[in-house]
Amino acid sequence: MSNDTDVIVVGAGLAGLVAAAELIDAGRRVIVLDQEPEASLGGQAFWSFGGLFLVDSPVQRRLGIRDSHDLALQDWLGSAGFDREEDLWPRRWAEAYVDFASGEKCSWLREQGVGFFPVVQWAERGGYLATGHGNSVPRFHVTWGTGPGVVEPFVRRVREGEQRGLVTLRFRHRVTELTMTNGVVDGVHGEVLEPSSVERGMPSSRVVVGEFTLKTQAVIVTSGGIGGNHELGRRNWPKRLGEPPKQLISGVPDHVDGRMLDVSGATMPSAFCPGHRRCGWMPVVSVCRFHSSPALTRSGLSSTSSLPGMTIRGSCSISASSNVSLPCRGPSRTLISRVAVSRKR
Ligand SMILES: Cc1cc2nc3c(=O)[nH]c(=O)nc-3n(C[C@H](O)[C@H](O)[C@H](O)COP(=O)(O)OP(=O)(O)OC[C@H]3O[C@@H](n4cnc5c(N)ncnc54)[C@H](O)[C@@H]3O)c2cc1C
Repeated sequence: MSNDTDVIVVGAGLAGLVAAAELIDAGRRVIVLDQEPEASLGGQAFWSFGGLFLVDSPVQRRLGIRDSHDLALQDWLGSAGFDREEDLWPRRWAEAYVDFASGEKCSWLREQGVGFFPVVQWAERGGYLATGHGNSVPRFHVTWGTGPGVVEPFVRRVREGEQRGLVTLRFRHRVTELTMTNGVVDGVHGEVLEPSSVERGMPSSRVVVGEFTLKTQAVIVTSGGIGGNHELGRRNWPKRLGEPPKQLISGVPDHVDGRMLDVSGATMPSAFCPGHRRCGWMPVVSVCRFHSSPALTRSGLSSTSSLPGMTIRGSCSISASSNVSLPCRGPSRTLISRVAVSRKR
């Protein structure tokens, strides 16, 4: 069967928008699918405070805050408590992310038009010490315009891509399956939900009116976290925290349902802690370099599918969500995910 597009992105939150924007720049054709109506474009990030994790930034330096890559990584590892075999990718994610946050992240965001309030906040400060959990120095850079200010540049880039015919946004399309051939993800299958006119962030109907199947060379899953799904939260509750509370509350829209966790065969990081932020909520821009991410297929295989000019393996999940880790990435606690598509030299 021929492909419907070069890449399918599942989820039109901030991570999906950033992924699509970067793919457009690489000249790829993209279909972005989302279960919610168009009114919710941008997902949770629209509601967010827009605080971004930057390390040794110009604003920090101006304020006399001494920060460094090594200190930030130590803080992260101290918070995350990676202690299981399946924490390999979360750990790699943390390392890659701190590289990014102490490297090009700030200048890259400025290039997008993102500006920062000139005072750095100290969110998730944890135990105050670098050997414990939490940020040992202030790193929470608040975006001008808060959440909507972070979302806007990426919506603009995706809309421009739409006008150029490179991107198609399909709302009310809920993915229920990653299709595979010979162990390699080659598309998605799902349900078309009935039209909905609810306002941004409001619960929308789940009445199914049809089905769809789309074929592609690469699938990127950017479906957010599980914070709106208490049952899933309890199921993934860390043993060391004892019995999960009987009553949980959510601070996220209903679409943060974690359903794609099972669909994509993802795992939770050991530091997952719904309902509070013991692990240090570190807003970050995440980088997923496809060519260096093995085991991206659902079955853990890493057969490579190539696009002209780049290499992408099977499917890759990126989460800008606050509490879920998917197969090739860590406990992302992220606000923005940036996809760096590696071009073949
Ligand atoms: C009130 C609030 C304040 C916050 N403040 C901050 C902050 O200051 N700093 C910070 O870093 N973070 C903050 N966060 C967290 C941050 O906003 C999120 O972690 C981030 O926006 C998640 O982005 P995402 O693209 O990964 O996921 P989402 O925004 O959840 O987007 C995922 C999208 O995938 C879609 N989807 C899910 N499953 C399917 C499926 N099966 N088929 C099709 N579509 C699907 C959903 O409908 C959704 O549109 C805040 C969050 C909230 C709610």
